[in-house]
Amino acid sequence: MQSIMEDLFQFEQSLEKMRLVTTEMQNQISQLMHENQELKLEIERLTHLSQPETTLTKNKQKLPATSIQMMHDLYSQGFHICNEEYGKRMKSGEHCLFCEGMLSRLAEGAADDARK
Ligand SMILES: [Zn+2]
Repeated sequence: MQSIMEDLFQFEQSLEKMRLVTTEMQNQISQLMHENQELKLEIERLTHLSQPETTLTKNKQKLPATSIQMMHDLYSQGFHICNEEYGKRMKSGEHCLFCEGMLSRLAEGAADDARK
């Protein structure tokens, strides 16, 4: 009986270790997603700088359509894109009102651009 209890104790310790490793990995993934996103935006910014005609458009602060698509992709892959929880993983089936609000605002902005 003693050894079963010891096994159980060790098993629980392994579980706890795995949980910590998983959490650490999730944090790293979130951070990498965030960095990746920022790098993509930076690439887009630099791409736009090298194309003078697009820098002359009025709504410079608006995200280009590809960024909006990227945000959509991130959200559909289960990552928050809202300022509150940016880059964090959502539980499966979870919806975030902040994210969805952000997406619809982005979509409206894109629609405005298309009309001009
Ligand atoms: Zn969110």
